[in-house]
Amino acid sequence: MSMPKVIFVLGAPGAGKGTQCQKIVENFGYMHLSAGDLLREERAKPGSQYGELIESYIQEGKIVPVEITCSLLENAMKKSNRDKFLIDGFPRNQNNLDGWNKAVAKNVKLLFVLFFDCPKEVACVERCLDRGAAGSGRSDDNMQSLEKRFNTYITETQPIIKYYEERGLVRNVDANKAPDDVFDDVKKIFDNINAGGDF
Ligand code: UDP
Ligand code: MG
Repeated sequence: MSMPKVIFVLGAPGAGKGTQCQKIVENFGYMHLSAGDLLREERAKPGSQYGELIESYIQEGKIVPVEITCSLLENAMKKSNRDKFLIDGFPRNQNNLDGWNKAVAKNVKLLFVLFFDCPKEVACVERCLDRGAAGSGRSDDNMQSLEKRFNTYITETQPIIKYYEERGLVRNVDANKAPDDVFDDVKKIFDNINAGGDF
C-alpha cells in the first residue's frame, strides 16, 4: 500500500485556509483535517482530559503541545480510511514540527505546503472580526485574542514556513482577493498535480 499523501495548509489567522480547503475538498477529493477544529472538538467532549488546557491556549493564541494535536490528527487520519489529506493550520511552531517529524513524517508523503499569503490589516483582522460578529462562536475571534494569534503567527509560524521554503516545498498563493479568485490560483496548483507536473 502506498503512503498517505499530506498537504499542509498554512497562513495567518483569517487568511482563508478553511474556506479554500473546503473548495479543494469539493474539487479534488482530499480530506480536510483542521487542527484547530480537531482541538475545538476535543475541548467540547464532556470529560475531556485536555478541555481546559485547550481552551486557555486558544484564547491566548498559544500553540497547544504537539502530543495532543498530533494524536488527534493521527486518529482522524486512521479513522477516515482515506489517503489524501489537507492538514490545515499545522505545523505552527517548532514544537509542532519536531513532534510531527518524530512521530508521523516517516509514515506519510508530504507533497507540499500550501501557503496563503495575506496582509494582516487589510484582510485578516477584518475577516476574523467579521466572522466573530457573524456568530462564528469562536472564543478567539475578538481583537484581544487576535493580536495574540498574530503575534504567535509572526514569531512562531513564519519560521516554519521558512523551513519548508528552504526545502523547496512551499506553494505560495495570494490570499488578499475574493475567495473564488483565490481558488482560481489554488486550482492551478492542484490541476498541475493531477497532470503529474509536480511529482
Ligand atoms: N491551535 C493549536 N495547534 C494547532 C492548530 C491550532 O494550538 O495545530 C490553536 C491555536 O491556539 C490557534 C487556534 O487553535 O490560535 C485556532 O486555530 P485555527 O487554525 O482554527 O485558526 P486560525 O488562527 O488559523 O484562523
Ligand atoms: Mg481555520
